[in-house]
Amino acid sequence: MMFCRICKKPVLKKRIDARYCSTTCKSEALSLRRRQDSLARLQQEEHILHVWAPQILKLEREIWQHAPKEAGGYRVGFWLSEPFAMYHWLPFLTGEAKRRRMLSGRYSYHDYFQLYPFEPPTVPAPGRYRVQYVAAHFPHTELITKEELHLEIPFSVHVPNLVVNPRNLRV
Ligand SMILES: [Zn+2]
Repeated sequence: MMFCRICKKPVLKKRIDARYCSTTCKSEALSLRRRQDSLARLQQEEHILHVWAPQILKLEREIWQHAPKEAGGYRVGFWLSEPFAMYHWLPFLTGEAKRRRMLSGRYSYHDYFQLYPFEPPTVPAPGRYRVQYVAAHFPHTELITKEELHLEIPFSVHVPNLVVNPRNLRV
């Protein structure tokens, strides 16, 4: 006899994988898992902001220092090997995603990290990234800089809708 994982009543269904007595308990289990997921994510973000505070400050200084004066945002990119053979820039908004989650836990509607105040980058894997600046004014075009800036980003978060598996990233 199986017992419902939520209410502990016996599960009467014949299905071999039935773990819940009803759709109510099944959806309760799902929302419970979602709450746990978002809690874990919140803790991860807070952890990054706290533990990596000195590195974030260093990134802020270096990114500010190299910023052209018309810049209002920046992106960070990593090289995608064949068949792409191009830079993948972060952050990005794809398809239905009109917003993205920032490290602060709030949402941004921009496909670039804010320079002032400084928004720490969110990347899928720790590593060395190229920095690209975008104009403060709409349409926030990419700015050409004399030299390429590459910076080490030591922390990472889950980045949804990435075209590559973060595990296979060699940044
Ligand atoms: Zn139940």
